[in-house]
Amino acid sequence: MQLIDTHVHINFDVFQPDLEAVRWRWQQAGVVHLVHSCVEPTEFSSIQTLARRFPEVSFAVGLHPLDAEKWHHGMAWEIELLARSDAKVVAIGETGLDFYKADNYEQQIMAFESQLAIATALDLPVIVHCRNAAVQTRQLLQKWKNLKENLRGVMHCWGGTPEEVQGFVDLDFYISFSGTVTFKNAKSIQESAMVVRSDRLLIETDCPFLAPVPKRGQKRNEPAYVRYVAEQLARLRGESIEAIAAVTTENARQLFGLAL
Ligand SMILES: [Zn+2]
Repeated sequence: MQLIDTHVHINFDVFQPDLEAVRWRWQQAGVVHLVHSCVEPTEFSSIQTLARRFPEVSFAVGLHPLDAEKWHHGMAWEIELLARSDAKVVAIGETGLDFYKADNYEQQIMAFESQLAIATALDLPVIVHCRNAAVQTRQLLQKWKNLKENLRGVMHCWGGTPEEVQGFVDLDFYISFSGTVTFKNAKSIQESAMVVRSDRLLIETDCPFLAPVPKRGQKRNEPAYVRYVAEQLARLRGESIEAIAAVTTENARQLFGLAL
């Protein structure tokens, strides 16, 4: 069984002391590939170093909506140059809108749209972070889909409703589930996981955040635990974990153009 963790942050300090052991555990768990996300372009060299060290890591470059106050026009150029500089860059992001923790709407929208422009110009998918902003995110993606047919991407760490899922799947976006789908009180996320079309389903850890049940108490989540996300999807959808692994691995391969 092969799994792909489509959203990790293993460049964070919390992983550095024992990263080889962390890698051994993801290998044991059947994780054959990881897509490393990026919260700001200054992380590029630390992520690139990991992608060179581990052949199974490819990565994104972008600016997180909660860092949108750092956005400036030069950054668009910087992200584009960095993305062009390494063949292991497979996505732009993470970008998107987060109106839960911040209210700098205009800055977030500017950073988001600029990154949508870069992604479509480079023909790369976008990794979208969306919190308390499904309507606005959907509108902007629709606007860009009308402008650029090659716009594609993933709604990462899905936290919305089943109705919202449909809106993004209608735009041909993938929906990625994280450890939150294993949380007991996450009924709406679980309902979402039941309705996503198989060919649009992805899994991730978003590690080191959001460790899934049964590791929920742990301070640090890690890629091996993506298996618990796959198990929960299998349970919710009445499928085998092998079937979930096969379909999500194929979907990740397609979206990010991975040669596996
Ligand atoms: Zn992330």
